[in-house]
Amino acid sequence: MFAGLASEDASKVRMLLTCVERLPDGSEEGIYYAIDLGGTSFRVMKLELGSGSMVINKKVEYRPVPEELTKGTSEDLFDLIASALKNFIEREGGKDEGRALGFTFSFPVRQASISSGSLIRWTKEFSIEEAVGKDVSQCLNEALVRNGLNLQVTALVNNAVGTLAMGHYYDEDTVAAVIIGAGTNASYIERSTAITKCRGLLTNSDLTVVNVEWGSFRPPQIPLTPYDICFNVEKKRNHYDQAFEKMISGVYLGEIARLVFQGMAQESDVFGSSANFLSIPFIFSSPCLAAIREDDSPDLRVVGRVLEEQLKIQDVPLKTRRLVVKICDIVTRRAARLAAAGIVAILQKIGRDGTLCGTTNDRKIRGEPKRSVIAIEGGLYQGYSVFREYLNEAMDEILGDEIASTVSIRVMEGSGIGAALLAASYSSTRQNSA
Ligand code: BGC
Repeated sequence: MFAGLASEDASKVRMLLTCVERLPDGSEEGIYYAIDLGGTSFRVMKLELGSGSMVINKKVEYRPVPEELTKGTSEDLFDLIASALKNFIEREGGKDEGRALGFTFSFPVRQASISSGSLIRWTKEFSIEEAVGKDVSQCLNEALVRNGLNLQVTALVNNAVGTLAMGHYYDEDTVAAVIIGAGTNASYIERSTAITKCRGLLTNSDLTVVNVEWGSFRPPQIPLTPYDICFNVEKKRNHYDQAFEKMISGVYLGEIARLVFQGMAQESDVFGSSANFLSIPFIFSSPCLAAIREDDSPDLRVVGRVLEEQLKIQDVPLKTRRLVVKICDIVTRRAARLAAAGIVAILQKIGRDGTLCGTTNDRKIRGEPKRSVIAIEGGLYQGYSVFREYLNEAMDEILGDEIASTVSIRVMEGSGIGAALLAASYSSTRQNSA
């Protein structure tokens, strides 16, 4: 993290500057729109804010991104989003004119201002190569014009940053945000003076939000197994590409387990003769892995059903089912513990882990630890209780009970809302009333 704050190139985590130097404080008012793109579906939303951290009204619509558009052209992708927003505004009977728009774009972006930035690379399921290097706000703004809309991106934010903004809106002790869904990432509030690579982007503010992009963290600091996807499949193409993300997040956990099952099937006959499906990449999803790990029936009925339905392996004996549960457990536990280690690293970086609460005469002193809130968003974390338990357990273990009791994890379904809040906070008029 220190290396990333000094220079992006030398670091395993990018520590991207976000141009967010103030977070919503509850005084925002008016009507704002937001778009949230980051996975195989996107959201359009309208938010009506009243002062005093009051969301008066919220309307959200989910739309799928057809698979071909995740690999097609940027124009088609942004047209899809712009036309969905247009229909949404029309159905809502709203006005687009002059409205501020928050855009959550959950990929690494080199921010040029709060409202613009160029795509560094795609992650997760997306790969529209011609979009790399382009200003994604401009792409969206142009699509909005093509679709006859009269509004522009006011705030371009990563989902980790949007979640932090929303967390902070409700609780000022929120110091960081973490995403554990299809992908994984974190953001936190850093002292501006700690950022030495500022590229002339920082102003006078004491604090700035950093988008850690921790998904790209990689060996040798974290050990890999031969089953890790970045190690096995992509070795030739891009060594250790997004290693941390591939050990933690929803797109990949099921796939790691599948590779272990496949290895077992090759080396033994535990799955009998009908294990052909095990060779199909990504056929075993993370929700299947979670369902297997959470099966507490004595005969592991759910395990049998998932293996039969997803992998077409029938009549798996109880002994093998137990083995399958064990593997899903190991993959989950490692992921949750790595995520916990990442959270603790951020707490350490900002002196909230109990080791440093101040300095005097160059001596580090331990003072009363401050309350720290971590806002978390993401389907894997929210939908998988065993993952949550393991993450909490690891945090307690690393921090110790006393400090762990000062850290609260708060689920926020809010990266899109956070973008709207930042759009509100950064829009010049502040009075975006109906
Ligand atoms: C992206 C991040 C994003 C995370 C969670 C990662 O693949 O690089 O920018 O925040 O997924 O959606």
